[in-house]
Amino acid sequence: MSAQVVFRCEGCGREFDSLEARRAHEAAPHPSASRQGFMCAACGAPFETPRELATHAHRTHAT
Ligand SMILES: [Zn+2]
Ligand SMILES: [Zn+2]
Repeated sequence: MSAQVVFRCEGCGREFDSLEARRAHEAAPHPSASRQGFMCAACGAPFETPRELATHAHRTHAT
């Protein structure tokens, strides 16, 4: 038995079966989420894309 590898978008939780598909998805805006945007849970800073949020969290709050 082999575990199914799933690539999940951290912005909206949608799952993809390939990294390429997820990257293509993340490169595009999130229509449903873009209105409220992505907010950093640690400091409340707003971001337009999950990638920006992930980069911020990694650089600013990484331990
Ligand atoms: Zn997404
Ligand atoms: Zn933050």
